[in-house]
Amino acid sequence: MGLLQFTKQGIYCERADVYIDPVRSVNKALITHGHADHARSGHKHYLCHKDSAPILKLRLGKKIQVESYGYNDLIQINGVRFSFHPAGHIVGSAQIRVEHKGEIWVVTGDYKLENDGVCIPYEPVKCHHFITECTFGLPIYQWRPQEKVFDEINRWWHQNQQLNQTSVLFGYSLGKAQRLLQNVDESIGPIFTHNTVFKVNETLIEHGISIRSTKSIDRVKDTKNLRKALIIAPQASMDVPWMRKLQPCSVAFASGWMGIRSSRRNRSAGRGFVLSDHADWEELNLAIKESEAEHVIAMHGYTDSFAKWLNENGINATTEKSMIENQQQESDGLSNHSHDTSASKSA
Ligand SMILES: [Zn+2]
Repeated sequence: MGLLQFTKQGIYCERADVYIDPVRSVNKALITHGHADHARSGHKHYLCHKDSAPILKLRLGKKIQVESYGYNDLIQINGVRFSFHPAGHIVGSAQIRVEHKGEIWVVTGDYKLENDGVCIPYEPVKCHHFITECTFGLPIYQWRPQEKVFDEINRWWHQNQQLNQTSVLFGYSLGKAQRLLQNVDESIGPIFTHNTVFKVNETLIEHGISIRSTKSIDRVKDTKNLRKALIIAPQASMDVPWMRKLQPCSVAFASGWMGIRSSRRNRSAGRGFVLSDHADWEELNLAIKESEAEHVIAMHGYTDSFAKWLNENGINATTEKSMIENQQQESDGLSNHSHDTSASKSA
């Protein structure tokens, strides 16, 4: 059994009795970042990077027990050494390095290699076992430099102004929204945020993170004044009454999924800008190379085809699923009870 294993609660370090981004309630959870599919409610103790702590409290409630750390700070639990390292995904996002008796594992969480101008950029961490996400682990996913994408966004905004239309740009409220806000050309016109984005920004600014301050759209009384404005809003807020007040407006989406023609078509009402906070194909391959890992475990996304590609190219790779199946077989062999396994395919 390795230093880390996959269980029905999530990635587990038995020796330290801690989980990383667990999917079910546990005593001690190390959290890579504040997105809902990584930081879930119900854990007794949360350990995370210091810039993730205010995000966790905003999302999960002020009463949660959080211990927070800087990047590279050493956390020792029963002889196991843990540390957080920049993942470049969103503010506070971290890869988690785990070391015991010279064996080193890294759990990437979500990451990207491009510097987005908001969060601390990704730093490679050398390890033996590299557990990587591969949300966009197909060669069709190749991002253009963000400067080019922001040139397009700025042009779209400017054109809307000439047509006397408000510009509404949708993206995730945590991560994408701050990246959009920070990188658009503010000399073009005023920028407002949907209240959900405004609350995230306020929390980050209060915590000392440098983000452009904006006004919440809720505080604007006369929407006629918004014709020159750009409004940054979460995707979930589309087609709700607040948007009707903004007519005439032009809508657009910023997401990695906009790289797929069918996604663009489904968003028939708006323009799509391909901008992702996840690593693209080249970045995934570069991150693996720089980790110098002897074993890669692919999770989240195109795991089977990505692991196959790595194996065909001389890198020993498995998937989270195959790790769970191996553990089940080991457990079956030891216990002689096929139902008595600690692992589950639902992990
Ligand atoms: Zn994420």
